[in-house]
Amino acid sequence: MRIGAHVSAAGGFDGLIERADSLGVQAAQFFLSSPRTWRYRPIAAPKAGPVIESARQHGVERLVVHASYLINLGSSDPELVTKSSALLAAVMATSAEESLSAVVLHPGSHKGYGFTESLASWRMAVAPALSFASATTQLLLENTAGGGASMGRSIEELDQLLQLCERPGAVGVCIDTQHLFAAGYDLRDRVLADELAEELMSTFGSVSAVHLNDSATELGSAHDRHANLGEGEIGLDALMSFVHHEVFQSADLILEVPGAGNGPRVEDIALLKHALANS
Ligand SMILES: [Zn+2]
Ligand SMILES: [Zn+2]
Repeated sequence: MRIGAHVSAAGGFDGLIERADSLGVQAAQFFLSSPRTWRYRPIAAPKAGPVIESARQHGVERLVVHASYLINLGSSDPELVTKSSALLAAVMATSAEESLSAVVLHPGSHKGYGFTESLASWRMAVAPALSFASATTQLLLENTAGGGASMGRSIEELDQLLQLCERPGAVGVCIDTQHLFAAGYDLRDRVLADELAEELMSTFGSVSAVHLNDSATELGSAHDRHANLGEGEIGLDALMSFVHHEVFQSADLILEVPGAGNGPRVEDIALLKHALANS
């Protein structure tokens, strides 16, 4: 397991690598282009040398891109699907070119369509991005909190979507602990949490990334609201016992917690390191 955090990409790759370095994390997640606009303008390249080398010089082994929240491959609006498919492919192309580790994608929302009905169009929409995916630069499908007809709210749905990708090794999953809890998986119950980890193991073999977040909303709320570790409804002990399962052995544990409002802080990373070592 590597410890990671979502960091701001202000100042381009140099800025985000510096931020990851000052947090002391081995994995940095960031937006490659502004998540609020359809216009694709990747962040500035490092001043010196290739991205990966510059990251490694600062102890950052894994660079993980979070795809824009605007992207919806499951929509019943064909224009939105076309725009989404093109933006995801552009993000994936840059990520492959720079040898970044992965691109994390929220599968989308099937509003107006239904999950099963949306699958054929979803499969066509993800294809252009998949042509850039590889074992070096994986496309990771993230489980969702379950609100607004979101796709990927259960292990079964995530697996169905993954099957449609037909690129073993080049695709994988990112598991968000807050989204699991909001979707109704009770991580506080050791037996259920263990069964869930076993199910992840038998379904996916391994999990490439974890969005490690406590939950600001109750079990089954379907709301996507992250809380700092130990300050939410799941609690630190339950989170630690869950991520110690072997299915997460090679995963990047990425904090997406609010901190004091600006994202993960040094003390959030310290808390995680301490908890991992003592659980
Ligand atoms: Zn996400
Ligand atoms: Zn979330």
